[in-house]
Amino acid sequence: MIHIRSKREIELIRNSCRIVLAAFDFVEKLIKPGVETGFLDGKIEKFIVSKGARPAFKGYRGFPASSCISVEDEVVHGIPGRRTLKEGEIVSIDIGVECEGFFGDSAKTFAVGEISPEKKHLMKITKQSLDEGVKEANCGARLSNVSHRIQTIVEDASFSIVRELVGHGIGRKLHEDPQVPNFGSRNSGPRLREGMVLAIEPMVNFGDYAVETLDDEWTVVTADGSPSAHFEYTVAVTSNGPEILTPYK
Ligand code: MG
Ligand code: MG
Repeated sequence: MIHIRSKREIELIRNSCRIVLAAFDFVEKLIKPGVETGFLDGKIEKFIVSKGARPAFKGYRGFPASSCISVEDEVVHGIPGRRTLKEGEIVSIDIGVECEGFFGDSAKTFAVGEISPEKKHLMKITKQSLDEGVKEANCGARLSNVSHRIQTIVEDASFSIVRELVGHGIGRKLHEDPQVPNFGSRNSGPRLREGMVLAIEPMVNFGDYAVETLDDEWTVVTADGSPSAHFEYTVAVTSNGPEILTPYK
């Protein structure tokens, strides 16, 4: 069942999203070669708690950390720990916050120091596919228009879009209906209505779209070892068009 959120509920989701964004601003300054991903996670957790909120991922189905930190060929769900960031790597950080019973969810890929033009392009196209896909999230349109737009942009750039993991509705739970695939043809799936709130999150691989899960049962990596980027917004469908609740550059 896809929930329709009232203005007040969307305001509460927006509030959680603001904390997610502030956590990104805070942690971004700490990303540099030599830093451990577990250190970043500890800072993110403290920051979220200092805002009177809860890191939504901690304990979610047993996830052991407050954020997902995925480096290089890690697509999503990387467990922060002793891994040290190295110059030239890309790192995707995914942050979820619960505050007053409502959730916000957003992800962003960062460069560690100076990165290759190829990785820069991968990040740029992934972000662009999200920005363009969101524009399709209009009242009355079918959800797959978002999916199709994302896939088209990614594949036109000769990258591949991950199929096994998808975006989701969000609100009183971190993951709600509907699933939001990042691929598919136009004009299928549910029709978007005012008050729906979606987490739209393309995961884009430099090489093939196939992914595998590591023995830790969380970390998803590209099967071919190529780097992967991930950008995610929480988006409200409004009568004035899509509103990004976690806007960033
Ligand atoms: Mg997320
Ligand atoms: Mg999400």
